Amino acid sequence: MHEEPIDPFNGDPADPAAGLHDPGDDAPLDPLTDVERQDVLEDLADLEIYQALLAPIGVRGLVIECEDCREPHYFDWDLLRGNLRHLLSSGRPRVHEPAYDPDPDHYVTWEYARGYADGVHDTLSEGTDGEPGADEAPADR
Ligand SMILES: [Zn+2]
Repeated sequence: MHEEPIDPFNGDPADPAAGLHDPGDDAPLDPLTDVERQDVLEDLADLEIYQALLAPIGVRGLVIECEDCREPHYFDWDLLRGNLRHLLSSGRPRVHEPAYDPDPDHYVTWEYARGYADGVHDTLSEGTDGEPGADEAPADR
């Protein structure tokens, strides 16, 4: 006759394994998946391009329609970059710290920025000069 070894911590609240299911405040958050991380890195790369193209014509950042608040949030370039980096390091978005009292005329959507960048890229590819879309951009005041 041979008895199975008894788990000395069975039912004991001091079981060290119990801590695995109850991370404290200092515990790291769930890391991003590789795919999520790649998305954020791509957003950061896009952001650099958009800022380089749009900041000179008076665009201060991007406006993002918030799914939680159902209202637009305005983010300066630096704030966007900070949020994305924060997301990379912590795995937690920080979307509810938009710019204070922004002027909507100075912000465009991701879609606008992407279209603008694509337009510039196409124009450069065709070897033509000029400033595509500049007349459609938000006016600098
Ligand atoms: Zn929100």
